[in-house]
Amino acid sequence: MPGYIGQSGTEDKNAALQSENNIFTCKKNDEFIIDIEDLGTDGEGIGKIQGYTLFVKDALTGDKVRVKIMKAKKKYAYAKLLEIIEPSEWRTEPACPVAKQCGGCQLQHCSYEKQLEWKRKKIQDCLNRIGGFTDIQTEPVIGMDIPYYYRNKAQFPVGYDKDGNIVTGFYAGRTHSIIPFKNCLVQHPCSSAILETVTKYMEENKVSAYNETNHKGIVRHILIRTAQATGEVMVCLIINADKLPYADKLVKMLLECSLSQKSGNINGINNNFNENSFIKSICININKENTNVILGNSIEVLYGTPYITDYIGEVVYHISPLSFYQVNYGQTVRLYEKVMEFADLKGDEVVWDLYCGIGTISLFLAQKAAKVCGVEIVPQAVDDARENAILNNMENTEFFNGAAEEIVPLQYEKSGGKLKADIVTLDPPRKGCDEKLLNTVVNMEPARIVYVSCDPATLARDLKYLCNKGYEVGKVQPYDMFGQSCHIETVVLIQRKDT
Ligand code: SAH
Repeated sequence: MPGYIGQSGTEDKNAALQSENNIFTCKKNDEFIIDIEDLGTDGEGIGKIQGYTLFVKDALTGDKVRVKIMKAKKKYAYAKLLEIIEPSEWRTEPACPVAKQCGGCQLQHCSYEKQLEWKRKKIQDCLNRIGGFTDIQTEPVIGMDIPYYYRNKAQFPVGYDKDGNIVTGFYAGRTHSIIPFKNCLVQHPCSSAILETVTKYMEENKVSAYNETNHKGIVRHILIRTAQATGEVMVCLIINADKLPYADKLVKMLLECSLSQKSGNINGINNNFNENSFIKSICININKENTNVILGNSIEVLYGTPYITDYIGEVVYHISPLSFYQVNYGQTVRLYEKVMEFADLKGDEVVWDLYCGIGTISLFLAQKAAKVCGVEIVPQAVDDARENAILNNMENTEFFNGAAEEIVPLQYEKSGGKLKADIVTLDPPRKGCDEKLLNTVVNMEPARIVYVSCDPATLARDLKYLCNKGYEVGKVQPYDMFGQSCHIETVVLIQRKDT
């Protein structure tokens, strides 16, 4: 039973545990001992006192903790972790020395096995609570073989420390102060050698780092992208200028830097990345706006191609600095194979791939379908999708630019209600699908819908809608695409009942 232990450990009559009408109240600086029962969407620990909820950053399910109230609201409060009285069996020592300060990973202090267990439970809770499903079981989350070094894209901010040295690293959680760090444990291991080389180039050639406050200085961010299947690496400097001074020197230094020197083993964690990484593209991206948006629109190639090339299965993709591309290669391959399995294509089907991005799922399915139509709201992504279709000689694809909830109903109307689909794939952003879209999808009478979701709550809501319209859930298979973070990705097979 959680207990009030007073302000800074002393009795305090005002902060009564129970008021007369049994409503719990507390105020800033009150201290309590509580049991953490769950994790919130941002990985914060959740504990309760008589139905009143406390959110405690860095606390884990199963911990008994002493906390101090920082901000109290009517039904909940944010509290600071003061002491772990009894640690949870979920706890583990974070592998990264700056895990706590950095805004990137939220769950490094939780064992990987328990991260996966928590993600599965989160999905199941949403299906039960929001979807009202009582008979659907979420499959165990398919995790990564090694839950580190998995990201194929990083954007490192560049700035100065208090002594005026150039630093690269990551922003501390919810701030814009840079935590200097070159060995990020979730990025591709070649990043550290690249960051060291760019920093050295800047120091030797007196190229300044950008200063957000006065909008002066040149180098804002360093973007690194890697292609796992080919080993190709792209380095792109985002600059607040039209030209990068001594660009030839940067190119020379980058081409000389050994990318594999840091591969193999960092902080005792082995990585299984392509040891043959090599730089295929060096470019600059010009962003002179006074904005938090990282990338500008114009790109100049300093060396090599304006893109790197990757494969998912047999399908080839060109990835430019601005392209959207799945961040975790190994898990993406597994997830797309599951989408293919759920779609169960025989070769004569018409597929609609909604929220298609650069057409990665569309092209993957086009290998086995008669026709795939993709719909995507971002025009550049649609351009990429069309180019990738040409690159792969996939003439059985067509891409539409616009909001899925507008394009699909419009196409349906235009056809006089004759537009049909055999399979529909849905991969919406966190807010899920619009009802107008789901309604049209139902009218198109696909035998199967494959829903790829990054938010279990909106997934549960949308599944409920589809199940009220003649569909049933076949299988719920989560994948861990972002180890050490709170993100949850789920693939669901939804079947029409009368097929
Ligand atoms: N299926 C792709 C991308 C999924 S991410 C892949 O696997 O890589 C979700 C995509 O939905 C993004 O590309 C985003 O731009 C797009 N999007 C967001 N809102 C949309 C809308 N209303 N209609 C169509 N696409 C939308």
